[in-house]
Amino acid sequence: MTDSHAYTVPVLPGHNWPTLEPGWVWLCGAGPGDPGLLTIHAVNALMQADVIVHDALVSPEILSWARPEAEVIYAGKRGGKPSAKQRDISLRLVDLAREGKRVLRLKGGDPFVFGRGGEEGQTLVQHGVPIRIIPGISAGIGGLAYAGIPVTHRDVNQSVTFVTGHDQSGNATGSLDWSAIARGSQVIVIYMGMKHLDRIRSELIDAGRPNDEPVAITMNATTPDQRVLETTLGTCVEDAAREGIGAPAIICVGRAVLMRQALDWQALASGLAPRDTDPLGRGRPAEDR
Ligand code: SAH
Repeated sequence: MTDSHAYTVPVLPGHNWPTLEPGWVWLCGAGPGDPGLLTIHAVNALMQADVIVHDALVSPEILSWARPEAEVIYAGKRGGKPSAKQRDISLRLVDLAREGKRVLRLKGGDPFVFGRGGEEGQTLVQHGVPIRIIPGISAGIGGLAYAGIPVTHRDVNQSVTFVTGHDQSGNATGSLDWSAIARGSQVIVIYMGMKHLDRIRSELIDAGRPNDEPVAITMNATTPDQRVLETTLGTCVEDAAREGIGAPAIICVGRAVLMRQALDWQALASGLAPRDTDPLGRGRPAEDR
C-alpha cells in the first residue's frame, strides 16, 4: 500500500490505547466511507495490524493508512452468494490468528449491523481466538446524516426500524412482517434494499403506507460519489432506475426525509440556500416549544 508519497506514521493523541496482540482478531467497523468517520480505535488498529481482511465497502483511502508492510486481503462478499463462503472467511481469520498474526477484520459501517460480525466473532470465540469488537458508524445513521436526514426527529418519529432487503440467501425478505413494520414504524431505514425495492414498496403500500410518502435513496453515502434521490414510495423504483441510483444505497422511508430541505448541509456548504427552513410546517423550530 505504498505510493509516491512518503509514508507518515499517524500519531494518536496521548491515551492508553489498546495493543493489538499477536493471535488476536479485532472485528472493526470502518464507517460508511468517509475516512473521517473512522473511530480512533479503528485508526489505532490500522497502525498495528499485520493482516487486514476487509470488505468491498471499505475504501482504498482507509486501507492506505495500513502499515506499509501489512498484508491486505480482500474478502468481499456479495449478497446472494452461498453462506459457505462466509464460513471460509471466518476460518481464514482463525488460521491467521493461530499463525500469530495481529489480525484486523475491517467491515463497512458497523460490524454488528447487517455485517455478519456476530457470526465471525462467534466462530472465532468457538475456536478459542481472542477478539475485540470495535463499533463503527453505520450507513443507516451516518449515511443519512451526510444526506441531511436526521434518523429521528421529535416532530416525526419516536422509533426507527432498520431492516435488510435481503435474507441470508439473498432473496427478498419474505420472513419479515412488512405489514407490522409498516404499521409500527414511522421511519424505516432499509439496507441492501435496491434489488427488491419493487416488492418492498408493494408490501408497504399494501399495509397502508401512502403512495406519496417521502423516500430518500442515498447512494455511496459519505463518499465523493454520494448521490441522494428524493422521491416517494409510489415512484421510487422508477425514479431510481431513471436516475441510475443503485447499490450500495441506503433507503429511508418516512417524513424525516423532508428535513433534508432544511438540513442538506453539503448543498448549504456549496452556497445554495435552504429549500425550506420549516419543512414539517410546524411554524417554528421544536426548541421553542
Ligand atoms: N455493516 C454495514 C452494513 C453492511 S450491509 C453498516 O453498518 O453500514 C451493506 C449495505 O449497507 C449496502 O447494501 C447499503 O444498503 C448499506 N451501505 C453501506 N455503506 C453504504 C454507503 N456508503 N452508502 C449507502 N449505503 C451503504
